[in-house]
Amino acid sequence: MFKLISLPFEKNALKPYMSEETLTFHHDKHHQAYVDNLNKLIAGTKFEDMSLEEIIKQTAEDIEWQSIFNNAAQVFNHNFFWKCLSINGTKRPKADLLEKIEQRFGSYENFEQEFKQASISQFGSGWVWLTEDHKGNLNILKTSNADNPIAHRLTPLMTIDVWEHAYYLDYQNRRADFVDAFLTHLINWS
Ligand code: MN
Repeated sequence: MFKLISLPFEKNALKPYMSEETLTFHHDKHHQAYVDNLNKLIAGTKFEDMSLEEIIKQTAEDIEWQSIFNNAAQVFNHNFFWKCLSINGTKRPKADLLEKIEQRFGSYENFEQEFKQASISQFGSGWVWLTEDHKGNLNILKTSNADNPIAHRLTPLMTIDVWEHAYYLDYQNRRADFVDAFLTHLINWS
């Protein structure tokens, strides 16, 4: 049985860039529903005692297990996303990662631009990630719906949730404004 993790901050801690109302719906309703659905779907199956990552790898791109994949991945994605948020968080990666970002993207500012462009251009629901492959190569990855780097054997380093439920109450249709607020005020590299 999986449990909904607690937010690593108070629900009013991200104001005015992410409201308590958004976090109440997003964590207590959406994230909770993914946890509850996953527990129902894996009860009595071979997935019951696996880690989230193992379930994701074993159900990815298999139509038979699509519902389990969707819910397991969304539980993982939100667990990861909450750790990427903090008003008082570190707004630049630590030295070794910053250096790799500068080598890959030219500068941290260029990385921000590419990450923003990917976030704006992801059509419909999904996520944008900074990922690292097994050779240490960094990339920006857009994924649709629940899909994530674990399903593609990549390590996630940063993510933004661009499902409308992540920003609609605070920004309505203005996804670009949400992404700007994320990159400037909410991102947490620590
Ligand atoms: Mn979400």
